[in-house]
Amino acid sequence: MRRGGVGIGGDQNLTRSLLILLNTASLLSLLLCAATVILWTRSYRVTRDARSPDSFDFTHAQPLYWVISNPGRLTFCRQEGRDWNSPRPRFNVLGLELAGSVVGDSSLWNLFVPYWMLTCLTLALPLTAMIAWLRRRARHRRETKGLCPGCGYDLRATPHRCPECGEAPDAHLIGPT
Ligand SMILES: [Zn+2]
Repeated sequence: MRRGGVGIGGDQNLTRSLLILLNTASLLSLLLCAATVILWTRSYRVTRDARSPDSFDFTHAQPLYWVISNPGRLTFCRQEGRDWNSPRPRFNVLGLELAGSVVGDSSLWNLFVPYWMLTCLTLALPLTAMIAWLRRRARHRRETKGLCPGCGYDLRATPHRCPECGEAPDAHLIGPT
């Protein structure tokens, strides 16, 4: 059996694949964020214009799972049976609230997630990816200008190692000395 080694090309492909995966995930997360903000602004219409709230049923048989948009928060629901009371709050952290009722075989669970929390969660990945991209770009710019990629110190006199922060720039950008 032939065993293929993964060389530098393989590592570069892996880095590229990871970057594509990260960018795709960031884009999806950004779309989710946009959808969240739209639902968030729409959620207040329920009280203002007496409209029925946005909702979506995941299942049509027991147990029932659905999501419903309430003013300022999205509610994930799970219901089994019909013999439940008004759900009792179990915990509430920063508006993230779980409430439930269990009566015999019947149960009803509501998880309330504030829209601001969903917005922050869905924005975290795209924001991280954008900051990483800006940093890569700044680094690359400094390197091509002969400056230290880490701190921006002029490396014309010492191209192999920065005397300020000790960083060694990429060898291919230094050129023959
Ligand atoms: Zn430096």
